[in-house]
Amino acid sequence: AKGRARGLCVGYAREMDERYIASRRLKADLRQTLLDRGLTTMFQPMYTPDGRHIECCEALVRWTHPERGPVSPDVFIRMAEDMGVVSTITAFVLEQACRECMRWPGQTSVSVNLSAHDLRSRAIVDLVAETLALTGLSSSRLHLEVTESCLMDEPLAAGALLAELRTMGVTIAVDDFGTGFSSLAYLDTLPLDVVKIDRSFVRNVTSDGRRLKLLKGTVNLVRALGLDVVVEGVETEEQLAVIVENGAADLVQGFVFSRPLPPDQALALMQR
Ligand code: C2E
Ligand code: CA
Ligand code: CA
Ligand code: CA
Repeated sequence: AKGRARGLCVGYAREMDERYIASRRLKADLRQTLLDRGLTTMFQPMYTPDGRHIECCEALVRWTHPERGPVSPDVFIRMAEDMGVVSTITAFVLEQACRECMRWPGQTSVSVNLSAHDLRSRAIVDLVAETLALTGLSSSRLHLEVTESCLMDEPLAAGALLAELRTMGVTIAVDDFGTGFSSLAYLDTLPLDVVKIDRSFVRNVTSDGRRLKLLKGTVNLVRALGLDVVVEGVETEEQLAVIVENGAADLVQGFVFSRPLPPDQALALMQR
């Protein structure tokens, strides 16, 4: 029995080694991809609830690994944060997003995700100013998304940076709202414009009256503070109908209207 236990340990250790080597390789591959500017960006529209207008598109980064195929951004963004190179991704996506937005009709805006690391340094303010100047995009058409957890990291410092960005005319959105356990007081004290309600509020909204009350109450609270509401992750016509009947969103983002699209397809949709 001893021998067998040792065998299991060795097997486990080998598996750990393999996983470690795989993650080290993946990190090396990501580093090379960043040098080659080999990431791409997709765009997912946010619609008015009636589905008639696209007001904004969210930029979502993509990495297709030559052997493994697509790697989830949830995975490689975390890797990039560990490696201390996430600001390279932010800069890349920001530039792509602003360039694409310049081609879009009217005042359609573009929304870019920031990582917690981006809110720890003033460099983000300079990066945004430089990218707007480089691409010629009006600051009024740029939105930045920050999660509750990146705000709670260092609320005062983050608040000061967001205030500067907002003074430049950029719109600030809280992403994944309702997934953290943070107090809601920050909604009133931080310089914010938009709240993106997480898709967990949408799930079961058609079958569970309590979920609907939670969504409606949250939307009312956010609106009472003068903020706009985007509801994320709306997948079905039934969910959309409930949201429309209850006036529970200013904008809707989700598979019911569109998946994230390559730049040319997103543009074509906006030109229709
Ligand atoms: P997120 O910012 O909450 O982005 C929304 C995610 O939900 C996207 O996943 C999108 O494809 C997905 N989604 C959209 N509509 C629906 C729907 O109706 N149902 C479901 N189930 N999912 C939907 P994606 O593209 O895989 O991105 C995952 C996360 O990776 C993002 O979550 C964001 O946190 C991060 N991310 C993506 N791009 C960037 C980026 O450029 N910079 C940073 N810092 N993070 C990024
Ligand atoms: Ca987002
Ligand atoms: Ca989100
Ligand atoms: Ca997220």
